[in-house]
Order: sequence, then C-alpha cells, then structure tokens
Amino acid sequence: MEDHINVAIRIRPLNQREVRNSTTVALNQLPWHVNRDTIIQRQYHDGRFSQGNSYTFDKVFDQKDTTQKVYDNSVKGIIQSTLAGFNGTIFAYGQTSSGKTHTMHGIRDMFSKIAQDERREYLLRVSFLEIYNEVLRDLLEPSKASLKIHENAKREIFVGDLSEHIVFNAEQVEELLAKGDRNRHIAGTNMNERSSRSHTIFRIVAESREKSEAGSADSSSQDGDMDVDQEKHHQRLSSGSLGETGEFTGAVMVSCLNLVDLAGSERVGLTGAEGQRLKEGGHINKSLLSLSTVIARLSEDGGDRGHIPYRDSKLTRILQPSLGGNARTLIICTITPAQDYVEGVAVDAQVCVSRQ
Ligand code: ADP
Ligand code: MG
Repeated sequence: MEDHINVAIRIRPLNQREVRNSTTVALNQLPWHVNRDTIIQRQYHDGRFSQGNSYTFDKVFDQKDTTQKVYDNSVKGIIQSTLAGFNGTIFAYGQTSSGKTHTMHGIRDMFSKIAQDERREYLLRVSFLEIYNEVLRDLLEPSKASLKIHENAKREIFVGDLSEHIVFNAEQVEELLAKGDRNRHIAGTNMNERSSRSHTIFRIVAESREKSEAGSADSSSQDGDMDVDQEKHHQRLSSGSLGETGEFTGAVMVSCLNLVDLAGSERVGLTGAEGQRLKEGGHINKSLLSLSTVIARLSEDGGDRGHIPYRDSKLTRILQPSLGGNARTLIICTITPAQDYVEGVAVDAQVCVSRQ
C-alpha cells in the first residue's frame, strides 16, 4: 500500500542578493549535501568537513528542480487521489523566504487546470481561510467577523460562515486566489519584510459523478440561469457531509484537497522579534508544534495510535477530517541554502524526520 504521509524536501536556489552577500557560503561549502533522497550533514572541524547525520526523505528536490518536477513527482498522485474520492492535504513548511509560497502558488496554478476527466464531471467549490494568532479569517470575505470552528451532530468539524465559491474554470480559481492573496496578513520581520505570519488553507471541495450517456447530467447549468443553479448546488452540497474518505451520496462523490501555506517556522530568537511579533511567534510555534505532533502520531506504525491531539490548535482541528485514515498528506519542507538559516535547516529537517 502506498504511504499516506509523505515528506519531500525542496531546496531553493540562492537569490541574487544571497549570491552577492559575502557571508553566504558558497554552494560547495554547504553544511550539508544531497545524495539522491538523503541529506547528509557536514560538520566543520579544524578547517575540514566531516560527515554528520543523514536524513532520508521520500523525495529531495534540489536547486535545479522546477515546480513542474515537484508537481509531477510528489503532488500529482495526491491530487488524483482527491479526485478519486479521498481527502488530501499538502503542506508547505519552512522558514520565511525558503520558498513555501512560491511552491504553493505553482501547485495551485497547475491544479486549477486539471480537474478534467473523460468519465466524470466535477463541481468544484473553493474556500480560502487564514489563521493568524489563532484567529480565523475568511480571505475571500475579509470584512466578516472572525470565524468559529463547529462540530455538528455527526461529529463533523467545519468552520462556520466560511464562504464557499463554486468555480467553473481555472480563471475563476485564479481570480479568487489573487483576491485571497491580497487579503493575506503580511507583516515585516528582520528576516524578510514580506514575511507572512499566518497560516492559510486553500480548500478545494470536489464533487463528482459519472458522466451520463446522454451528455452532461447537469445541462441546466448551461441554460443561462446560473445563479439559481449555483444556489441549488450549494444547498445540496452544504447539506452533504464530508467524511474521512470522501462521502458517497448515490453516484456522487465528495472529497477535499487542502493546500496549506504555513507561517514561517523560524524560531522567535532568530528574527529578533519582540512584543507583538513575539506573541505571533508563540502562536505560530504552538500550532506548528501541534501539527508536527499530530503528524508524528499518525505516522507511527500500526495498531492503536491512541489519542491524537487534534484539538491542540485550530490548524490541526480544521484539518482533522483530512489527516489520518485514508486521507493522504504531503509535507513539502522548503529550505534555503543561505548560511543564516543553517541552524533552522537542521531544526526543520528534524521536525520532518521526527516521524520516522
Ligand atoms: P516563503 O513563502 O517561504 O516565505 P517565498 O515563496 O516567498 O518564501 O520565496 C522567497 C523568494 O524566493 C521569492 O522571491 C521567491 O520567488 C523565491 N523562490 C522561492 N523558491 C524558489 C525556487 N524554487 N526557485 C526560484 N525562486 C524561488
Ligand atoms: Mg510565504
């Protein structure tokens, strides 16, 4: 059986500033090197490098690898499984400026074009949520008050009042994404002035059914009265449920894919943060810590895993239906070769491998 949790590493290239910056180590002096899917740490002693710990991941993408390659090797499978009815989550985890958003944007753009299948037709609806200091905000309707997490009688978890938007084509997805991105909380730190201090969850719910012989079973959507039709869909969909493996309602299948762009994983000390920043740092670390605990527990082998602490943070609580069980999870841990982050790289690698 295929693994349900995969960890990939993506190392971004040095940018021009880093190349110019004399404090940045040359590529051949990195404190680690990559051998296939293993990262081997190098220790520097008395002017020489010696081999340190090594960490093996499901996949390591290096500086030369494109987002297309990341997509083809690691992302496509999870998206196909979502379209086949299983929930999935893709995380971008790493320090600020390591390439999380770059990677997520690339994946989103590729995804928005693929929900096409000759045998099935899809209805996609999207939502875009931000978690900032444990406060939830609808990025597509930012004027709304902060949102709350609810549990219904069937013990299903949902974010109350979060707007969902039915999309019919890639352009509509892109429009919503651009709108959400503009609304995303951005605050400066010493490390990166556009550093994002929040987690975002872009969720795509895919409802699909087999195409009928006589063409589209939903031909009414082409009849002009789009609003009424969308409304009907929405009512039906929101009364439906979303189980761990996607729910089957007759021939209709519902599953969701979460694309999660996590806040920077740097520790507070490294960014010289204080006051408000420090508070944010605390929250970020708490939810990243609880995420890594949940992931670690889920990846323990076999049998009774006992209590999984989903409730420890809003992030894990919201994602609970899409983590564990038959759901598939991919963590893309982004890292930068710049020297300033060496310590962070080790910490990040540790978080990712702590599952093994
Ligand atoms: P993060 O979201 O982790 O803070 P970003 O995705 O914003 O980091 O990346 C920081 C900068 O590095 C951006 O200018 C981005 O375009 C660039 N970058 C990140 N990853 C890559 C990559 N794989 N190839 C080229 N440029 C990249
Ligand atoms: Mg970012």
